[in-house]
Amino acid sequence: MHKDTTVVLSKTMISAGSSVLAALSEDGLKISGALKVVDGMSGNAVSLAVKNGFKAEKGELKMLYPAGKLHAVLLLGLGKRAELKQDQFIDGVADGAKAARSAGITELHVLADSFGVEDSIRGITLGSMLGTHRFMKYKTKDLAKVKNLGKITIMAEDPAKQQKAFDEAKIVADAVKKTRDMVNTPPNVAGTEEVAQYAKKIAAENRLKCTLLEEKDMEKLGMGCITAVGKGSAAKPKIAILEYNGGAGKPVLLVGKGVTFDSGGYNLKPTNYINNMKDDKAGAITMLHVIEAVARLGVKANVVAAVALAENMVSGMAYRPDDILKAYNGMTVEVTNTDAEGRLVLADTLAYSVEKHKPQAVVDIATLTGATMIALGHFTTPIVGTDEKLIGQLKEAADATGEKVWQLPLWEEYGEAMKSDVADLKNSTDGPDAGVITGAMFLKNFVGEAPWAHLDIGTTVWSKADKGAKQKGATGVCVRTLIEFVKNWK
Ligand SMILES: [Zn+2]
Repeated sequence: MHKDTTVVLSKTMISAGSSVLAALSEDGLKISGALKVVDGMSGNAVSLAVKNGFKAEKGELKMLYPAGKLHAVLLLGLGKRAELKQDQFIDGVADGAKAARSAGITELHVLADSFGVEDSIRGITLGSMLGTHRFMKYKTKDLAKVKNLGKITIMAEDPAKQQKAFDEAKIVADAVKKTRDMVNTPPNVAGTEEVAQYAKKIAAENRLKCTLLEEKDMEKLGMGCITAVGKGSAAKPKIAILEYNGGAGKPVLLVGKGVTFDSGGYNLKPTNYINNMKDDKAGAITMLHVIEAVARLGVKANVVAAVALAENMVSGMAYRPDDILKAYNGMTVEVTNTDAEGRLVLADTLAYSVEKHKPQAVVDIATLTGATMIALGHFTTPIVGTDEKLIGQLKEAADATGEKVWQLPLWEEYGEAMKSDVADLKNSTDGPDAGVITGAMFLKNFVGEAPWAHLDIGTTVWSKADKGAKQKGATGVCVRTLIEFVKNWK
């Protein structure tokens, strides 16, 4: 079986035969300290590389096989220190680790230009863990031939001082890795029941309260939207609610969309759009790992995660266009497109959990629309909401982690498009205009008075490239932002 790279923190010590990755910034290209030791052990390979033109420009990567005692030295350029963003640092280290792995190196020592020691430790930890992570659970052939970087040792002058930053970064990286793995897990393995059991396991391991609403509970409660979406599948809809009590006062409520497979329903998705629809559960999986990380970090806040699980399928029982549904809050919804199911499962989950937990703030995350791609492309997540302060806090958290979010407006005028002739609302507009915003306008009807923000990861959930800290497949986007947001919550 394939094993992930082990990442440890240790005192700077380089022995003969080692391979070293040195991350260097352009304006600090002095060969001193540990780098001087590396230079000495490598027959001055580092100084020679600098003399021969290595400038440590951003993205510059030089692999050396020196004549001295070391096996390999990889020089990684980070560019100018003042311009370096945390995500670029993480991606640089990740690319360095990937290059080492491709070269057949099985053990790597990483040495950082200490541009803010703790940020360096965090960046190297995240870059090492996320860059080397792969989803190989279902590969059975030729595993012995797969190049594997077994161990990365992050070298620190005084590891005791940096242990905390390292431990925290590891918890965060684990949350991202687990999110990627679970989102990548196919729908025949991770259906609504399996994800619900997974949520229970997370709760048990972290001493969180866990409540599971089954289909019959939801019917009794009058949740006509999520139950309709789940009707066509043998995998019954569920809502899992996890509660973490780390502080005082009303909780922050985190809501996630977990459609374990989205066929589109009777508005069936065509080929090329139906593939990868296992990623439609990413919002739920994200929130499960955010609350887990928050618990593991011992954050002083109260947090509730409510995740809506359903599978959107076609059958004689499935809901149809023209159906009129009644949501938990009493509003009626005309179904104009069965592929706009995410907002339906969220409508009941939001209305119910807001009423039950009376949160200080609500944040939801969902692969809600494909319109995200037209709006902002592949690496920026749109954010919308009712409260500028809350949105500001989320933007700050995103900035700190290097993830990219961008606010779109939620002006009242956009609500017109969601009005139905025969019910209070319709679930889909007639055209493609402002799809991210009109989707959010629909959700706004179900969040009550609490400050609310919505992240639409319809496009950023998935990477087509194996580059930097990303692999092909699920990205685990916004996990880091949301952990940072809860950590800083006041
Ligand atoms: Zn859909």
